[in-house]
Amino acid sequence: MTTPTPTPTPAPLANGTGVAAVTVDAVTKHFGDYVAVESADFEIAQGEFFSMLGPSGCGKTTTLRMIAGFEQPTTGRILLGGQDVSKVPPHQRDVNTVFQNYALFPHMSVYDNVAFGLRSRRTKKPSNNEIDTRVREMLEIVRLPDFADRKPQQLSGGQQQRIALARALVNRPTALLLDEPLGALDLKLRQNMQLELKRIQQELGITFVFVTHDQEEALTMSDRIAVMTQGRVDQIGTPTEIYHRPSSVFVAGFIGTANLLPVSVNRVDADLVTVDSRTGSQFVIRGNSSACRPGQDVTLMIRPERLSVSAAGNNGIQATLTGMVFQGPVLRCEAVTTAGASLVAHVGPHELAEGVRPGHDVTLSWDSDAGFLVPESITADQAGVTLAEDTEAAT
Ligand code: ATP
Repeated sequence: MTTPTPTPTPAPLANGTGVAAVTVDAVTKHFGDYVAVESADFEIAQGEFFSMLGPSGCGKTTTLRMIAGFEQPTTGRILLGGQDVSKVPPHQRDVNTVFQNYALFPHMSVYDNVAFGLRSRRTKKPSNNEIDTRVREMLEIVRLPDFADRKPQQLSGGQQQRIALARALVNRPTALLLDEPLGALDLKLRQNMQLELKRIQQELGITFVFVTHDQEEALTMSDRIAVMTQGRVDQIGTPTEIYHRPSSVFVAGFIGTANLLPVSVNRVDADLVTVDSRTGSQFVIRGNSSACRPGQDVTLMIRPERLSVSAAGNNGIQATLTGMVFQGPVLRCEAVTTAGASLVAHVGPHELAEGVRPGHDVTLSWDSDAGFLVPESITADQAGVTLAEDTEAAT
């Protein structure tokens, strides 16, 4: 596989001042001989919800810890609000971090936990009245105004997480850094908290830098996502850019489920690209903005929800249906092509031709604007369906 070129997307600087909240400037981090982060180079706008997403060990926590000041870059700089803070200790940086384990003070009440940051200020310490106003305002924002007198152990996991957020936000930092903060919560609570986090972030307008290995979580909350693998940022983009126009095969497979086929470019006519498959079929792809030239080996990606399954003999890829699983809103259809690649289609319960069953020969087809050409080649062995779960398991 060729190494994909990172595609940095300039941060939309929401405050109009032209100054990014966080700048990671050509940062590399070595632990001994091991390169944990390589040439990370991006800006995070004021008020942006920015996620760093990638499999375990890809360097996202190390990058976050360098922004927080818990780790020093080996080379490069960290800037906050345009100021180089590379040599500034963590407690003097205008950022706060929320960890997965909440780290609330168990002997203090909820109120005292939230007030802690304001009371322990060395300079510009607010009056007691002001502290009271701000603590109660934060408890309102995290929707726990009646829990001020409780101790952390009298709260559920989700409530503790909200208090940890209130405590980290009460000082109104330039950026809030969140390291897998929802990892300890069960699925339902995690989904609720994702929406709550987004609401709180929008209400306060504070920059959030969020670390996660959960692609759904990143897609739900983020304005932009940096997808990382093996210490490198592979792509930075909005959730829709990353999902629909991945810059590498890794990103295509890590975000959702991707059907991948090796093809070579035959002809390019304006926004129509004709490609040849390995079995001699030709497909036309519309609206693919990545630069393709005739003769180039690339990868055709089609998301499962864009594939249709019909009776054999229609235009498309000929395959045998190997499995069909009812998943509520969709039927997951698994098929193996005549070239041996496994593909997955998600079809609506009423979209499947009558009588089609596992074991039958079928045609998989898609609209010309449903395919995307990833500017990277794969071998025949790598053709088929790539799932985020597989990527996780492989690391
Ligand atoms: P996870 O999701 O598992 O937390 P991650 O993407 O956040 O993973 P990091 O914690 O940033 O990954 O670690 C990146 C790599 O650097 C890993 O291989 C890790 O073992 C290594 N690493 C991290 N901290 C240190 C350290 N203090 N000393 C040596 N190696 C380290």
